[in-house]
Amino acid sequence: MSHLSHLEILVVDDDDAIRNSLAMVLQSSGYDVSIAMHGFDALLQLKRRIPAIVISDLNMPQMSGFEFLSIVRRRFPQISVIAMSGAYLSGDAVPGGVIADAFYSKGQSSPETLLHIVADLVRTSAARAVDHARESAPVWIPRNGKDSHGIPYVVLTCTDCLRSFPLSVITEDLQKIQETPCLFCPNTVRYIIDFSLAIASPRTEVKAVTTVPGPNED
Ligand SMILES: [Zn+2]
Repeated sequence: MSHLSHLEILVVDDDDAIRNSLAMVLQSSGYDVSIAMHGFDALLQLKRRIPAIVISDLNMPQMSGFEFLSIVRRRFPQISVIAMSGAYLSGDAVPGGVIADAFYSKGQSSPETLLHIVADLVRTSAARAVDHARESAPVWIPRNGKDSHGIPYVVLTCTDCLRSFPLSVITEDLQKIQETPCLFCPNTVRYIIDFSLAIASPRTEVKAVTTVPGPNED
């Protein structure tokens, strides 16, 4: 197992228990493991160190795993990625456009399964890195909400400068790859919007700012 001792894996999950238990399983198998709590945290870490493999939850606050994995594929095509979720039983059920080399079902699969997946990816990483570099992965974004005029909007993260900006959605061309210029740099951001999945855009109970009724009202 000594050949694995320097192989780095980044585990991204907002769930402490899952993140830590996966990290322990991987560490005990000889991998170098780092952890991140969400996509932005992970992207910051990737600026400093580039692991061989990223394992990311799909349902996270701040930045969805879908979007995070798309950015990883575009900026770090040499990294193999494993998408994981408790919401899908198999990789076949995961919506199209998810940029991952493998899928791990939390709760359904055993840690041994994950170790097999990792070993598989390590074995085939060279070939896949070449494929990754040829792809132009779009950013995959969930619906974010509606603005004060009732127009749906999304928040895009530029794959080059990593700045985020809101974008009104006026087309119904869902699940199709679209393009928009970045507000901050010359990059063109390619993206897919998914309106169908609550899973990618968990209801965070964003309270609208409303006037609180005075004591004499109601
Ligand atoms: Zn940009």
